[in-house]
Amino acid sequence: MNDLHHCIFCRIIKGDLHAEIVYQDERVTAFWDIHPIAPVHILVVPNQHIESVNTVSQEDDSILGHLIITAGQIAKSQGVENSGYRLVINTGPDAGQSIFHLHLHLIGGRHLSFRSQ
Ligand code: AMP
Ligand code: ZN
Repeated sequence: MNDLHHCIFCRIIKGDLHAEIVYQDERVTAFWDIHPIAPVHILVVPNQHIESVNTVSQEDDSILGHLIITAGQIAKSQGVENSGYRLVINTGPDAGQSIFHLHLHLIGGRHLSFRSQ
């Protein structure tokens, strides 16, 4: 749902809905994906409700940078820094975006094919 009052990621950020939180600060929250597709599959989300990359503006540049920097730190803490990992932001129907609160998937711990998917 787009309404932030019903947004499940907003509820997770506020602590109203349970998730396996990996990291949280005043700007971002990271938690395990409930349906992991790899041994490491963590979502890094802005605490602020931003729907998607389509709705970000120049004013969001600092939070977007912080999202990637945080993902890199979590990758290190999960031990996939050297084996490698993928950061994915699905946007819109063709990419299969299902939750309209911007989130960055941190996926690693196994070999990931790219062109076949
Ligand atoms: P996307 O398809 O990019 O919108 O990704 C949404 C992701 O959120 C999916 O990988 C889901 O498995 C994940 N997800 C949905 N609900 C929850 C939840 N309550 N806790 C953790 N991850 C969730
Ligand atoms: Zn939200």
